[in-house]
Amino acid sequence: MSLHRGPLPGEVEFDRALRPASLDEFIGQTRVRENLRVAIAAALGRAEPLDHLIFAGPPGLGKTTLAHLIASAMGTNLTVTSGPALASPRDMAGMLTRQERGDVLFIDEIHRVPRAVEEYLYTAMEDHAIDLVIDADGPASRSVRLTLAPFTLVGATTREGLLSSPLRSRFGIIERLETYPDADIAQILERAAGKLGVQVTKPAVGLLAARSRGVPRLALRLQRRARDLAQVLEKGAIDEGIVRDCLERLGIDDLGLEETDRRILRALVQRREPTGLKMLAAMIDESEDTIEEVFEPHLIRRGLVVRTPRGRIATAEAFRHLGLPGEKGTLFG
Ligand code: ADP
Repeated sequence: MSLHRGPLPGEVEFDRALRPASLDEFIGQTRVRENLRVAIAAALGRAEPLDHLIFAGPPGLGKTTLAHLIASAMGTNLTVTSGPALASPRDMAGMLTRQERGDVLFIDEIHRVPRAVEEYLYTAMEDHAIDLVIDADGPASRSVRLTLAPFTLVGATTREGLLSSPLRSRFGIIERLETYPDADIAQILERAAGKLGVQVTKPAVGLLAARSRGVPRLALRLQRRARDLAQVLEKGAIDEGIVRDCLERLGIDDLGLEETDRRILRALVQRREPTGLKMLAAMIDESEDTIEEVFEPHLIRRGLVVRTPRGRIATAEAFRHLGLPGEKGTLFG
């Protein structure tokens, strides 16, 4: 198992079965939830589409889920797509012209929409129109303006800093999702277990929550693996022993780190000097994006890595965690 960015194959059905049916069922993220509630009630009261909005935050925290909940609260259709899938202006134009009044268009990884395509979004979001160039290279090249139904663009991004400022400025609402406290994760796990008819003991839920880095997708994935193990071992319920066994089999340690995290730490420890992202990516053979979006935030939160202007450094805590003698006389020793 790896901390894969999105859903794994086969998880999509689980996601559908477990998706909260309304904002009330969405656990945690209270501030975001309440802001959405107000914005939705106001838009419904004025019989207008909801303002365009952005969800920013690491993968697996509920951005897609919230887009579904918004469309259902507004009583409109939802179209789900992603930045990399919108490779040409034609794809984008097709998607935009299919929107009906008030519909929600969800673009995951919106920071990866190509710049030429992004420009279509500007007029679409602001003027409900797109200018299509017909016969671009021919003698009769001309531009035609297509009017669109007013719709709501919901963008999700794991890299808020990569959004261009013209795009960012067209969103009325920007909400940042934070990782969840263990108690919220425990509640999400209990609710999922209930829905799937799986028995799981309190200590087992507590342990799963503690090792899930505050990310619902990871927590649910771990619980599923524990359920498989319980089934194979013919245990009626997922108990703490099953979870421990499962975590060990998956190579997930006390801090919720998996092998890739430990490889990052070992690489930094080996370097013993601030290391740039490019160098780190080459050392552990992972993409820079994945390191920065998926692995590093947890390592920083846990105090194992610090980012300095000159690069990443492993802290004394990282040495301890790897069972290595610390560096004497360093800033973190
Ligand atoms: P993202 O779009 O941010 O990557 P998703 O919306 O796909 O995340 O959520 C990942 C999984 O976690 C889904 O199965 C979803 O139902 C579940 N989930 C996420 N947040 C919550 C929450 N607050 N309450 C209940 N389930 C959640």
